Amino acid sequence: MAAEAKMTPMMAQYHEIKAQYPDAFLFYRLGDFYEMFFDDALKAAKILEITLTSRNKKADNPIPMCGVPYHSAKDYIKRLIESGNKVAICEQVEDPKLTKGMVKREVVQVITPGTLIEEEALEVKENNYLVALRQEGQTFYLAAIDVSTGEIKVTQTPRPAQLFSELYALKPSEMVVDSSLDTEVKDQINQQLAIYLSSFDLTDQTEVGTQWVLDQASPQEASLLNLLLAYLYSIQKQALGHLQPVVRYALADYLQMNHFAKSQLELTKSLRTGRKKGSLLWLIDHTKTAMGGRMLHQWLEKPLIDEGILRQRHQQVAQLMSAYFERLDLIAAFETVYDLERLVTRISLGTAHARDVDHLRQSLGQIPHINRILDGLNASQNQVLFEGLPDFQELYQLIDTVLADEPPISVTEGNIIRSGYHEELDQYRDALANGHQWLAELQQRERDRTGLKTLKVGYNKVFGYYIEMSRLQSANFDDPRYIRKQTLSNAERFITEELKQLETTILGAQEKATQLEYQLFTELRQAIAAYTGQLQTLASQIASLDVLANFASLSEREDYCQPELVAEAKSFQLEASRHPALEKLIGKAAFVPNDFVLLPDQPLLLLTGPNMSGKSTYMRQIAFCVILNQIGCFVPAKSAKLPIVDKIFTRIGASDDISSGQSTFMVEMMETNVALREATPRSLLLFDEIGRGTATFDGMALAEAILYYLAQEVQAATVFSTHYHELTDLSTKLPVLRNIHVGATEQKGQVVFLHKILEGAADKSYGIHVAKLAGLPQSLLVQSQEVLQELESNSQWLRRQEPESDGQLSLFDLPATKPSPKVLREDQEQVLKQLAALDINQLTPLQALEGLAAMQDQLK
Ligand code: ADP
Ligand code: MG
Repeated sequence: MAAEAKMTPMMAQYHEIKAQYPDAFLFYRLGDFYEMFFDDALKAAKILEITLTSRNKKADNPIPMCGVPYHSAKDYIKRLIESGNKVAICEQVEDPKLTKGMVKREVVQVITPGTLIEEEALEVKENNYLVALRQEGQTFYLAAIDVSTGEIKVTQTPRPAQLFSELYALKPSEMVVDSSLDTEVKDQINQQLAIYLSSFDLTDQTEVGTQWVLDQASPQEASLLNLLLAYLYSIQKQALGHLQPVVRYALADYLQMNHFAKSQLELTKSLRTGRKKGSLLWLIDHTKTAMGGRMLHQWLEKPLIDEGILRQRHQQVAQLMSAYFERLDLIAAFETVYDLERLVTRISLGTAHARDVDHLRQSLGQIPHINRILDGLNASQNQVLFEGLPDFQELYQLIDTVLADEPPISVTEGNIIRSGYHEELDQYRDALANGHQWLAELQQRERDRTGLKTLKVGYNKVFGYYIEMSRLQSANFDDPRYIRKQTLSNAERFITEELKQLETTILGAQEKATQLEYQLFTELRQAIAAYTGQLQTLASQIASLDVLANFASLSEREDYCQPELVAEAKSFQLEASRHPALEKLIGKAAFVPNDFVLLPDQPLLLLTGPNMSGKSTYMRQIAFCVILNQIGCFVPAKSAKLPIVDKIFTRIGASDDISSGQSTFMVEMMETNVALREATPRSLLLFDEIGRGTATFDGMALAEAILYYLAQEVQAATVFSTHYHELTDLSTKLPVLRNIHVGATEQKGQVVFLHKILEGAADKSYGIHVAKLAGLPQSLLVQSQEVLQELESNSQWLRRQEPESDGQLSLFDLPATKPSPKVLREDQEQVLKQLAALDINQLTPLQALEGLAAMQDQLK
């Protein structure tokens, strides 16, 4: 308490402000520094690696303190935000020179992860979303805003799983929730998604900028948007004039994939690194503009199911692909189109500098050229395949008359306004130019007068204009007009009355000119801000052209084909399809293309083949073809006929899936459950080795039961891969099931994978061959071969014994005449049972060896 009593007025003010922003680092402005105190200081010093000092060092309780210079604060703020924090900027809002006592301070802006607009803080080709979530009854309402582009959208879903998948797709950097949200939901979001949560409640006084428009917003949507915008207002402290009209979307209007499927397919990020590199997006993204890159990302997160739009996109890609030179022209034009969405945001918020406006001018300057190219593309088709861009020449002219060519970034140092635009500015500039002339003349006159040929007139920011001569010259120099100004080690500087007058004129003109330039620039910026909405539309038109041209180039370079959309569900025909990433990795020559034929009367494909033969690869490439088709791109195949798929369920293991312990059997079963329950006849199911994660017998039992369920209940297009080649017998009982397998042959006892998909069932599983490839000891391999032969000769017996032992029905229908079992010793029987129960896929070589040794011991 004693400390409080002694608290200085400044610390009292600090505490008062800090209390309003408990969850943010408070950057408290003191002179040229932002200072932090107490806990903020302790934490920030660590994160920013800056020196921790203290205030009132001599007092009993010194206050921990650290600070950053205000001119380099940006970098520090960025680092705090990146490590998941908020920063509240507290400025002096009165001029200290005019104030007696404490200067008034206020928080002028709060910077949070989800509300960044600074160009340097954002990924160019990524959106940065702030989302708001509310739950009303059973329904979740979700709104997402990218403050840097002005995009706002809302959706709703009654299903938590769908909500989570959508959150994974949006990858928001911050979420606003009010106290009405269930704590359980909040906790789950915290644990699973690790999104930065900001709690905020609407009060009656909360001011909301009501620029947003959503036709027929429901009361729930309205309160959600209110929450989002009120929160934004509370931290930005200014109305946001650049927000686009709110878009409502339904999750069912897009190809549905949950986040498990997306992450297993590595659509937008690599499983291993979590980064874009290595993902499908990375592979196909060669867009030229930032907004094109963001749009492609959005398309890939949400492929379409709308046949009309897809047909149009395919047609556009085809046309761009065939019109080679036009496409190159178009792509070249996009090189000079800047990030219009974010530019417009900065212009509207008044933070754009002169270089930004120049970038806008250059971008707009491309429009006539782009439109000529589009005209050409349309003319050769005799139809309007590509809608022209609005021409914006009025705005272009406006900018071009005002803004100088190649202006500097700074808006306070002049040279940003074109000469001839403003009379008064031109006069100042004349004065400046003349001033330079006058200075040159003055220098000449003084040289003549004094006879000192090296005397010169110079300028220095601190001392202003001066006449300089060497120390030697000044030693014998005596002229009452010359007033000594500054002494250097080898020179002497003077001023004269005449020079002083010139200085006043020149510097006055300079200052007035820069002030005027700044004012004219702000006026220009405001004038451009009036075009915000139209420019945002332009940005999205250019973005989609960029993506389509990118599809065309990709398809040409990688030899993709235009898919034909077929109306009938469950009717797929891919001729010589390829895995787009693997073929790039190993080269076109090494990759073996495969057909994929699935027809409505036999929609259930059972895919067998040894480990490492290419089952997972095949299933992935099918998924990629379907997805690429449904974002409007061509597909990696020689020819393709594809239906529009409404949902994709995948359970595709990465090659190191099991060993890395990434997927537990439980997760696998949960995903299977979702797929079986939610698939429709238009869905595509890709099940890779379901049941592999548990012991052989119950894994196989589950796999068989799932196949029955798929055949009888689900009836969606399905590829089901398994290494249990015993399951292939099911085709005799399930007419909708067709066997296919990946070919492998043996050459001189070595297995050779052909990676070729063939009709029919695989004849064996080649497990021991794979073990051989992996380099297991020769003696072990020989022994396992012997055990296998023994097992195979007893297999019928084994199959019968196991289920009967616990009185269950037989898993596999056995021939009516059962072979009479060999009589075995009890220890032999034990060993065989142990062997049968082994899950070879889960064993390390060492475990296998030890196991074998133990079995051998038992038999001795
Ligand atoms: P499986 O799922 O059957 O165990 P994968 O699909 O994981 O096998 O493939 C194993 C490896 O085989 C891949 O990493 C790849 O190098 C190679 N492979 C798979 N399919 C092909 C193909 N069509 N052409 C060439 N190599 C392939
Ligand atoms: Mg596999």
